[in-house]
Amino acid sequence: MTLVAVRDQVIPGLVGLSRQASGEVVVFCPGCKALQTVQVSGNRLVPTRKFTQEGTHIYHDCGCMRPCRLYQHS
Ligand SMILES: [Zn+2]
Repeated sequence: MTLVAVRDQVIPGLVGLSRQASGEVVVFCPGCKALQTVQVSGNRLVPTRKFTQEGTHIYHDCGCMRPCRLYQHS
């Protein structure tokens, strides 16, 4: 799996979703390389198993200390 092929806009964190982003966002965990689509509503992560929002970042529950990268379909 390579993200280079994904030509979606890269968002550094939910703070980047300044336009009251809502809808589907792809989260990518830099620790375990997990890739999953989650729902965001008004810059807030809709409660999802395995992912937790802290401030403007989303963290995976695998124990990775680095925040997930976010990709939004353009
Ligand atoms: Zn992970």
